[in-house]
Amino acid sequence: MGHIKKGELTPEEKELLEVIGKGTVQEAGTLLSSKNVHVNCLDENGMTPLMHAAYKGKLDMCKLLLRHGADVSCHQHEHGYTALMFAALSGNKDITWVMLEAGAETDVVNSVGRTAAQMAAFVGLQFMGWFQTHQKIGSSVFTYTSLETPPHTHQQCQHDCVAIINNFFPRERLDYYTKPQGLDKEPKLPPKLAGPLHKIITTTNLHPVKIVMMVSENPLLADAAALGKCYRVMDLICEKCMKQRDMNEVLAMKMHYLSCIFQKCITFFTDGESKLDALIKSLLKGRASDGFPVYQEKIIRESIRKFPYCEATLLQQLVRSIAPVEIGSDPTAFSVLTQAITGQVGFVDVEFCTTCGEKGASKRCSVCKMVIYCDQTCQKTHWFTHKKMCKSLKDVYEKQQTEAAKQKRQEEKSGRPDANSNHVNEDPPEAEVGISQENSTPGDSTEGEKEAGQDAGLASAQDAPIGPQLSEE
Ligand SMILES: [Zn+2]
Ligand SMILES: [Zn+2]
Repeated sequence: MGHIKKGELTPEEKELLEVIGKGTVQEAGTLLSSKNVHVNCLDENGMTPLMHAAYKGKLDMCKLLLRHGADVSCHQHEHGYTALMFAALSGNKDITWVMLEAGAETDVVNSVGRTAAQMAAFVGLQFMGWFQTHQKIGSSVFTYTSLETPPHTHQQCQHDCVAIINNFFPRERLDYYTKPQGLDKEPKLPPKLAGPLHKIITTTNLHPVKIVMMVSENPLLADAAALGKCYRVMDLICEKCMKQRDMNEVLAMKMHYLSCIFQKCITFFTDGESKLDALIKSLLKGRASDGFPVYQEKIIRESIRKFPYCEATLLQQLVRSIAPVEIGSDPTAFSVLTQAITGQVGFVDVEFCTTCGEKGASKRCSVCKMVIYCDQTCQKTHWFTHKKMCKSLKDVYEKQQTEAAKQKRQEEKSGRPDANSNHVNEDPPEAEVGISQENSTPGDSTEGEKEAGQDAGLASAQDAPIGPQLSEE
């Protein structure tokens, strides 16, 4: 104890560092059982074997070292980097997770005062600039697809790690509020609410509709008094994040945002009755001109602006990204916020549900093929407003198809081989409007005048590529 000095490595310890990079787990295990090897030895830069293993992306080595008592909190690196930061830098999600499970502190900062997550979140905002200039789909179609693959795939892996770090919130931190503190007779958070609240706090999908859905699905939460307690606890966590020595603006912003959504939910309870479905509808309702969900955009913008610590760098970055954007244009407040909080370079290459923002949605409206959902439930929820746009989106889709076909013919004429020809669906558009009967009138029947007598069905994304701009593997 206490005798570990930077750079004073025994020959076996030097060998261990070599083996971590190039050798096998067995070799490392043998060395670790030698009495000349200290598992937390430090090289000349203050890096432990665990940091080396994390940085090199060696998951098995990390696990082995942790089993041998490696200290996940070691903070001796010359620039203050921790094993968790090295894991995030390596872009390896499993290692990031292993470090967090082993108790790595997410609030530790490096020598320039940034946590791993903060660093990448700021990188992410710069990346957003790239995204903005490359986003070529007009504001009238707010499906999150992009035309090109962004240039930095490793960076995306880092962002995924950041998403894991930022959304890792140990249950114990919440459980603290389930015990009376100080002079309180009652805990601030009834213990039975800790589980459902923790689930929402750790979500990586910040879509307001998703959050309201999670609230309304849980009878314990779908109650004005319970929600009131929850949002006050989140406000306290937010405050703590901002006032503690190792400030965590990202987590503070997330807590504040969730608190705002909870408060919005409360306004939709009347006489003890839950009207959360009405809130979901308001959030989804598209404006007449282009179907853009204006209320949703305004709610998110307002939540961000109401962040109580106006000096926060993250707040200023967010406001700067959002303020110049006209409502209805890209990027949306949701995309900017998600970007900043999860670090995800979302909306690129992955499909998001139009209703709830869930990643990996794959069901397309079979009429217009321009909106994507998780499942029929999400489609039905959206139908009351989508039905007003479906027809015009279908026209947009068909125009895209026709133009793509035209372009392809020209390319063929000019004799240029087109490697991506199979991405373009050449069938005449009329032939593929599949209306499945079983989905008759998704959405509520009160607004049941079926426009053009059509109901939207669902087609699998694989069956119906949206057009030339969607690259399928
Ligand atoms: Zn969905
Ligand atoms: Zn449609």
